[in-house]
Amino acid sequence: MLTYLAFAAVAAAADVAGAAIVTRAHKHGHARLRYFVAGGAGFMLAAAFVRMLPESTHVPHAFLFVLLGYFGVHLFEHTVAPHFHFGEEVHQEALLRPSAGWLAVLGLGVHTVFDGVAIAAGFMVSPSLGAILFIAVMLHKLPEGFTIASIMLASGHSRGAALAAGTGLGVLTLAGALGTSLIAQHHVAYALALSAGVTIYVAASDLIPEVNREDNAPGLAYTVFGGLLFFVVVDWAFSEILGH
Ligand SMILES: [Zn+2]
Ligand SMILES: [Zn+2]
Repeated sequence: MLTYLAFAAVAAAADVAGAAIVTRAHKHGHARLRYFVAGGAGFMLAAAFVRMLPESTHVPHAFLFVLLGYFGVHLFEHTVAPHFHFGEEVHQEALLRPSAGWLAVLGLGVHTVFDGVAIAAGFMVSPSLGAILFIAVMLHKLPEGFTIASIMLASGHSRGAALAAGTGLGVLTLAGALGTSLIAQHHVAYALALSAGVTIYVAASDLIPEVNREDNAPGLAYTVFGGLLFFVVVDWAFSEILGH
């Protein structure tokens, strides 16, 4: 249990680090984060389809839980939060009310709980699955912290509040891992099915649209395949070292 809490804590720290990139206002780092978004999308989709789904769908109604995870993220990120998308927040006009910032924290917070659930459930199945899901989470954690801090600043909050929002996401990630560690071993497949749905939504419906924005560098779209190749190498290496 300490193993995956430690991994979840590293992921949580990346939320805070991502937020700090925004509050320190170093403009140069922003474009590079898009490569994490693109590579992360490829890696996460591969992890969800090739590893998470096969490990979870042997229980009854597993795909119902995948669907719940998928639309749960849509509900919280895109209806509860009035304005949310990954990447830098540039639509000040859409975020006139400061409440929009905190609602985005709530919306993204539901997804970050499942970042922690995925890491813990992965380790409860096997060390190699846990390590793969840790990387899948890590690849989009910096952009995630960056996104929430950027939304907070755009909706009129202070740098302190922006950093607090990133820290809040980190705490929720840890809470997700801790909560999962308390569930019975035979329910882990359901936690994995839910977080597979979340992972598919985040990768395909949050990250890929950011990659496909017209103002992005042409090479960015190729980076998605880089994420896929990275998954192939990591999946092979982990099953060699840790076993399946
Ligand atoms: Zn916006
Ligand atoms: Zn996340």
